[in-house]
Amino acid sequence: MSRVLDQLAIERDAPIPTWFRVGGRADRLVTPRDEAELASCLGLDPEPSILGDGANLLVADEGTDRLVVKLGETFREMTIDADTGRVTAGAGADLSKLIHATVRAGLSGLETVIGVPATIGGAVVMNAGGAFGAISDTLTRVHALDRSGERITLERSEIGFGYRQSGLNHLMITGAEFQLEPSDPVKARDRLKDIMRRKSTTQPLKERTCGCAFRNPTLPHELPGIGAAGERVGAGLLIDRAGGKGTTVSACRVSDVHANFIETGDGATASDILRLIDASRALVLDRFGVTLETEVVVWSRSR
Ligand SMILES: Cc1cc2nc3c(=O)[nH]c(=O)nc-3n(C[C@H](O)[C@H](O)[C@H](O)COP(=O)(O)OP(=O)(O)OC[C@H]3O[C@@H](n4cnc5c(N)ncnc54)[C@H](O)[C@@H]3O)c2cc1C
Repeated sequence: MSRVLDQLAIERDAPIPTWFRVGGRADRLVTPRDEAELASCLGLDPEPSILGDGANLLVADEGTDRLVVKLGETFREMTIDADTGRVTAGAGADLSKLIHATVRAGLSGLETVIGVPATIGGAVVMNAGGAFGAISDTLTRVHALDRSGERITLERSEIGFGYRQSGLNHLMITGAEFQLEPSDPVKARDRLKDIMRRKSTTQPLKERTCGCAFRNPTLPHELPGIGAAGERVGAGLLIDRAGGKGTTVSACRVSDVHANFIETGDGATASDILRLIDASRALVLDRFGVTLETEVVVWSRSR
């Protein structure tokens, strides 16, 4: 491992690109080219932070002292077998590119998660999805390295997928496999367009956001006109009903389109976003007695 470790180029004080386009830098960032180099990252930090597309990520203004790992080119490969419907993708592959390629190949199943900016690794860890389906619906297998650098493969049945969670956060995901169904490419393309059209009317997709800031909570008690005890309801609905839409902190604003999205403008900082998150959380707790948990992943200094 030490010979491989010597070959890893460490970038110091490196920017961390996120969809919010705010936040601090990485003390150390590496881009492993293969699994051996990825495993050797554990020699630099036993708990590295894997960077996907940065679409669900907020980095604190002071940055992070964890080793940030950006998967290199070889982790972006994809294979699509149009005859069997079997699809494989590296964890660094772009989800949107994979979806479009499968639709072009006449395969259906992944288009339900169109409009979710993500790498395959980030989408699997977050079990990305929404009203139309989730990435776990068609997933059959995940490949990863565990925290001792051992290569493991997990079957779908061994993974505890749930609402926006996979239980895989302790792993370094290297790839995933999917089983799709043959379909008429024209119909699948129409479905893609339809989902995108619906999303663009209900979400501020042109703004700088991280998607939903909060997980949709399960209600601890009945809220008349909102939901029954035990029901999962939209965090955005609660923020909206509590009067939170349009709240601003500096150049950050709770979206008028969807109250679970925080839009950032020029000059915004990560601290501003965190203050706005706290403000929305306090508002909903005060008005409805419901505690919101963040969906956005926050990286900061460990000490
Ligand atoms: C405009 C917009 C719309 C969105 N809409 C949706 C939506 O409809 N549904 C939805 O679910 N989400 C949505 N999101 C949030 C985001 O797209 C998803 O959470 C996505 O899965 C994040 O993937 P990523 O590659 O960007 O991961 P990142 O944001 O880079 O990372 C997220 C987490 O995954 C971990 N991770 C990433 N790659 C790996 C890996 N290879 N191995 C181990 N851990 C890894 C990171 O360490 C981090 O903890 C939206 C975001 C935006 C900006």
